[in-house]
Amino acid sequence: MSPLLPKEVPAHATSSPFALWRHWWRRQTPRLQDAVAMLVPLAAVLLFLSAIVAAFWYLRAEELEREQESVRRDVEYAQQRLRLQLLERQEQLMRIARDASTREIDAAEFVSRSESLSSQYPVLQSVSWIDDRRRFLAVYSAPSVHPAQQHLVGDVLRPGEVETNYALARELRQPVFSQPAFGTDVPGVLQLHIPLFDQGLFAGVVLAEFSVDAILRYGIPPEVTARYAVSLLDGNGKLIAGNTVSPIEPTPHFLPWTKRVNEYEVPVSPVGNGLILRAQGYRTSQGLVGNGLFWLVMALSVLTSWILIGNWRHTRRRQAAQEALVAETNFRRAMENSMPTGMRVLDLEGRITYVNAAFCAMTGWSEQDLVGQSPPFPYWLEADREIMNERLEEELHGRSLPGGFQVRVKRKNGTVFNARLYVSPLIDAKGHQTGWMTSMTDITEPTRIREQLSASYERFTTVLEALDAAISVAPIGSEELLFANKLYRLWFGSNTVGHLSIVAQAGVPPATTHDDAMDEVDAFAGLPIDTLTGAQPANNEIFVADLGKWLEVRSRYLTWVDGRLAQMVIATDITPRRDAEDQSAQQADRAQAASRLITMGEMASSVAHELNQPLTAITNYCNGMVSRIRSQQIDEESLLSALEKTSRQAQRAGQIIQRIRTFVKRSEPNRTPSDVSTMVSEAVELAGIELRRRNVRLNHYVAARLPIVQVDPILIEQVLVNLLRNAAEAIDQAQRPSSRRSVELRVLPRMIDGNEAVEFSVQDTGAGLPPEVMERLYEAFFSTKPEGMGIGLNLCRTIVESHKGRMQAENIYNGPEIVGCRFSFWIPVLDSTRSLTSDEAKVPA
Ligand code: ADP
Repeated sequence: MSPLLPKEVPAHATSSPFALWRHWWRRQTPRLQDAVAMLVPLAAVLLFLSAIVAAFWYLRAEELEREQESVRRDVEYAQQRLRLQLLERQEQLMRIARDASTREIDAAEFVSRSESLSSQYPVLQSVSWIDDRRRFLAVYSAPSVHPAQQHLVGDVLRPGEVETNYALARELRQPVFSQPAFGTDVPGVLQLHIPLFDQGLFAGVVLAEFSVDAILRYGIPPEVTARYAVSLLDGNGKLIAGNTVSPIEPTPHFLPWTKRVNEYEVPVSPVGNGLILRAQGYRTSQGLVGNGLFWLVMALSVLTSWILIGNWRHTRRRQAAQEALVAETNFRRAMENSMPTGMRVLDLEGRITYVNAAFCAMTGWSEQDLVGQSPPFPYWLEADREIMNERLEEELHGRSLPGGFQVRVKRKNGTVFNARLYVSPLIDAKGHQTGWMTSMTDITEPTRIREQLSASYERFTTVLEALDAAISVAPIGSEELLFANKLYRLWFGSNTVGHLSIVAQAGVPPATTHDDAMDEVDAFAGLPIDTLTGAQPANNEIFVADLGKWLEVRSRYLTWVDGRLAQMVIATDITPRRDAEDQSAQQADRAQAASRLITMGEMASSVAHELNQPLTAITNYCNGMVSRIRSQQIDEESLLSALEKTSRQAQRAGQIIQRIRTFVKRSEPNRTPSDVSTMVSEAVELAGIELRRRNVRLNHYVAARLPIVQVDPILIEQVLVNLLRNAAEAIDQAQRPSSRRSVELRVLPRMIDGNEAVEFSVQDTGAGLPPEVMERLYEAFFSTKPEGMGIGLNLCRTIVESHKGRMQAENIYNGPEIVGCRFSFWIPVLDSTRSLTSDEAKVPA
């Protein structure tokens, strides 16, 4: 369990401090635990080291103190011995001095006693008797005395230090030891001045000289000299006699216990500060041994610390490696688990040793269910067991196909899915094969998609084949036929000849190679793709003579599945439609012609009335001429004039008939560039007959410089005549007074959606159009007139729309009252050539 996770403290854990500590310890981070595990031994080593140092230091100090104590004791002892000896000699010399002062002895006696004393105590080097005038009266010198130090009888005491001591002795009236004096090459001596008094008066001194060397040699007990280097020093600390341990062994002074302490100095008592006894302990090996041990411990501690630190760093590296390993393992585990491919490992016997999460998810069996299983595996289908066994055999013998194989797999819930398995040998780190790794992919979905795709392809081809249009696709600049449906094959066979001929005939941008060597790769490079794919044939209805059929052709450029630019042509048989269209056009023609005849029939009485005038005039002219010829009252001139008038009337009648004939003559629809004003005047002429009869005025206004329009003039005239007649009839029906019996015809240029057009409008002063009539205005056979046919407006609209124009009707109001209505229509000017010769605007007659 992770030490990071807070855990509940078990009841028993709280009982002891150790348990508490252990609980606390487990809650710390591994890093902290590591640091503690490393630092505690290190601290222990350091503590141990400091304990050792302290112990050493303590022992060493103890020992030094003991040594110091013993040297002090020994030196004191030696000093006592020296003191006693010197005092003893002083005593003996004082006895001699007393005898000499009382003159109990003479000079010879003095010398002999001195000699005997000196021989007894070799320390005593010489004894001299000096009188109060500082003259040597008697001198005894041991033979060993250095010649320079010898005194002779009769000499006077040399001034200087000796003399000062002489004076001091006289002054103090006591024996005075002097500071030993010695030269560079003479052994040092210690002098003793003992003053002599004769009856209380100073009578000189006895000067005894002791050899300092001898004092040391004979005065110090041998057990002391054996142990120490004993020496005598003068007041300035200068060595006078004896030996010294010098130089002192080179011990490092920064270590306190190695400081030189086992030496002791003490002034030799009767002499005072002038003579100092010093003893120095010979350095035993103890310090060395101690130091050696110390260094050994020290070195071992350093070694231990070093090993600990090294160990700690090694642990850290191991831990880092372990963390990296864990991260890597986790990463691989995560990868393995998130992989959609199922993985299964079989050992060489065919037992499952491993399955991944995806495998379990696919099959629905858990890892525990599968691992360790031998064939037959639970996900095998009962029915497929034979095949699966075979496959497994192949697998285990390494004979399975590299492309894998497809099997059916049973899920735990009994459902079945298709899977593809790939097998590869599993090789361990040493290069030995340990089993077989199988990866499994669920291919139900791809299979389903494939099946769906093929089904949809089938549906698609079925539809295309069943289509009553010939569809062909051919790449640009190639004879290859990429696709052709059944009808195409039926009509044109399985080659591109038909396709290309349709393309050529329909005027589709040619699907041929580009001559331009500069641009061989893509003939349409640089063209916007919309233009390409949207390209439509110029003439999309063609007649194919070989088939005897009319075809409607549509074409599209498309990028073929292989990326080539191809052209698709869809040709639909429109022969029946064309036939029907032709028929209906013929019928429309007939209807229009019939309608014109009907119009004329309806206008028959008006026409008759119109013709009546010239015919009556002709008759009158003829009758007049006949009677005047009979009465011979006519001259040639008058006859000619009358004949001309008759002829003009006849011409007029002929013109009326001619116009009516032209109007009703059945002719093929014929669109020609027509002048608007001519058409208008023809129509006005015809309608004028009816208008005049009904006593209706006609005002017409035709704008100047109207463009030439591409129309069938007879049909447009028919429309105008119809509208004018309807207007006159409406006025008649409304029984308008003669002041309000007028119709206005206006012809003006207009712009419809940015295109030029000519607008015709006929406005009357009739009763207008009630809403129910307005709704059914263009219905065939709708009429409100008792003898009306009700096909006039219907035909008018058909004619206008066949000229790509539009027609409309509206009421004219004067306040709420309807005072008439206006019918208007416009016709686009398809030919942009403007009439520059058309008549000027016609002023209403
Ligand atoms: P018809 O003139 O034979 O009745 P139309 O198709 O020419 O047939 O007219 C249909 C109907 O439209 C007419 O019966 C009439 O009621 C109405 N109509 C046509 N023109 C006008 C007009 N200028 N004023 C009023 N009503 C009209």
